[in-house]
Amino acid sequence: MAQGKIGVTTENIFPVIKKFLYSDHDIFVREIVANAVDATQKMKALVGSGDFKGELGDMTIRLSVNSKNKTLSITDRGIGMTEEEVDKYINQIAFSSAGEFLEKYKDQISNIIGHFGLGFYSVFMVSSKVEIDTLSYKEGAKAVKWECSGDPEYIMSESDKSDRGTTITLYLDDDSKEFAKEEKISELLNKYCKFMPVPICFGKKKEWKDNKYVNTKEDNIINNSEPLWTKKPADLKDEDYMKFYKELYPMQEEPLFYIHLNVDYPFNLTGILYFPKIKDKLEVTKNKIQLYCNQMFVTDSVENIVPEFLTLLHGVIDSPDIPLNVSRSYLQEDANVKKISTYITKKVADRLEDISKNNKDEFEAKWDNLKLFIEYGMLTDEKFCERALKFALLKNTDGKYFGYDDYRKAIETEQTNKDKKVVMLYTTNAVDQFQYIEAAKNKGYDVLLFDCPLDAHFVNLLESKLKDVQLTRVDAASVDKLIEKEERAKYEISDDDKKMLNSVFEIILPKENKYEVGIENLGETSQPILITQSEFMRRYRDMAALGGGMNFYGEMPDSYNITINAENPVIKKIMGEKGVTALTADNELLKQVTDLALLANNMLKGKALSDFIKRSEELLG
Ligand code: ADP
Repeated sequence: MAQGKIGVTTENIFPVIKKFLYSDHDIFVREIVANAVDATQKMKALVGSGDFKGELGDMTIRLSVNSKNKTLSITDRGIGMTEEEVDKYINQIAFSSAGEFLEKYKDQISNIIGHFGLGFYSVFMVSSKVEIDTLSYKEGAKAVKWECSGDPEYIMSESDKSDRGTTITLYLDDDSKEFAKEEKISELLNKYCKFMPVPICFGKKKEWKDNKYVNTKEDNIINNSEPLWTKKPADLKDEDYMKFYKELYPMQEEPLFYIHLNVDYPFNLTGILYFPKIKDKLEVTKNKIQLYCNQMFVTDSVENIVPEFLTLLHGVIDSPDIPLNVSRSYLQEDANVKKISTYITKKVADRLEDISKNNKDEFEAKWDNLKLFIEYGMLTDEKFCERALKFALLKNTDGKYFGYDDYRKAIETEQTNKDKKVVMLYTTNAVDQFQYIEAAKNKGYDVLLFDCPLDAHFVNLLESKLKDVQLTRVDAASVDKLIEKEERAKYEISDDDKKMLNSVFEIILPKENKYEVGIENLGETSQPILITQSEFMRRYRDMAALGGGMNFYGEMPDSYNITINAENPVIKKIMGEKGVTALTADNELLKQVTDLALLANNMLKGKALSDFIKRSEELLG
């Protein structure tokens, strides 16, 4: 028997462990299972290299709980440890590295710990006493028992263990009794160990018998030690990917597409990513990518590892090359992480481009569910945007889809303006803007549907990315002025008359908005009065509403342009010989056509609306 004092640099790390790690103390389960997996894999490697010639036997790792004694134990049949090794790896190295680790990362510990863990010593977060019983695979090795009761004193003695490998027994402390419950351990094994590479057994499979669950004789293996991402893509079918998705997310709808990631140079990374059906709530789909390190679950928040828009995807990424022992903010600066992030973005773009080329119909059919993801990616990731310009689609109000280049070609002839810019018309609400859409279509124009929450930002992006293209909302001007092709004769009006018109309309229009009134020649067939909102003003208001940081615009009253069409027959009739001076606030016909314009814009409400109806009846009668 030997007694000793552990060589720690920090005065006494046990209270530190308990204090710092309290929030994340679940991870001790992952740490002890990971050690057992390592020891097992090392054993297999020894057979592979010919350094061990005996029988491996059953290599299953077994966990058990004793809810009465409040203990949890784990047994592996790995390489085990000799007395010297326990002294070296447990008493010296593990202790001091845990101490140094805590010392170094004191301030950010809770950020890192979930990633890195503290190895073996994390067991002291939950135990008042820990025992290691271990027998090394080495010939002639003697079994050792190590005991430590949560202070730097330990006891080492002979053990009666006769089977190769290690058993670690935790005597749970009063605050941690929950870990002696079967359900709790099942839950944690499912979270952290579901895909570890060695079979892990926890109790027996249960069956329903005589109105209760009873144990069968069959081992309850809690993990899938060969998850899909570790297999060769060539050996897998679509169904395999869909089945695996269900294994990862039992409650989710089928995904749209999948990507199998597989690279071993210049870094090692495997994984499978899925495109979920995204409707419009961005937040609900986040935190679905799980990060693994050699099949050991690390985290499900990968924001600093993949570009933000990719966090909308689902699936798994497994890489031993993502440094986990650094703080999260440092991760983004890491060269490997940057490469990984670029690689994943490229793969996602490759896959989308591939489907859009080779399965055009499928791509179009799924576009509505993909759109938000792709547009979000284009808005937030420069590189992805450059790629997506080649495969992203535009959808028009007739439900037809076009690639950007195809769309330009389709509308070029009709929709090029006098400055040689191709004007793409769009609507943000096909119901409210129906009248304008119809007018545009009658003129031979096409109208795009931009009705998703990101589109206000997206319009600006497209304008900056597409050469000689201008985007104009379909109700930004009268149909004749939407795409200005040649100069029209200006309607001459004096400043005084203009002032007079503005005061007339101040009386007849609703008070809550601001107006700028003008009179122009818009052609005989155009409406008498047009109400429009400038494209610029409207975009900024839309963005302010989305929280784009332009609140100044959001708080201003709505401002509209009122254009009187001097060539419209009704206006001509009202003006007669007198010209604009005939346009007075008490002119019933003027009020009527103004109300019609308000009505078309959904701006005629309450008393104004009932006055309008009354007046209509009188005029008709
Ligand atoms: P790490 O696993 O990161 O090296 P740990 O603190 O978890 O750090 O473990 C320290 C060392 O103790 C391991 O490197 C290993 O040599 C030894 N060890 C821990 N658990 C076992 C085990 N179940 N079987 C054999 N050796 C083990």
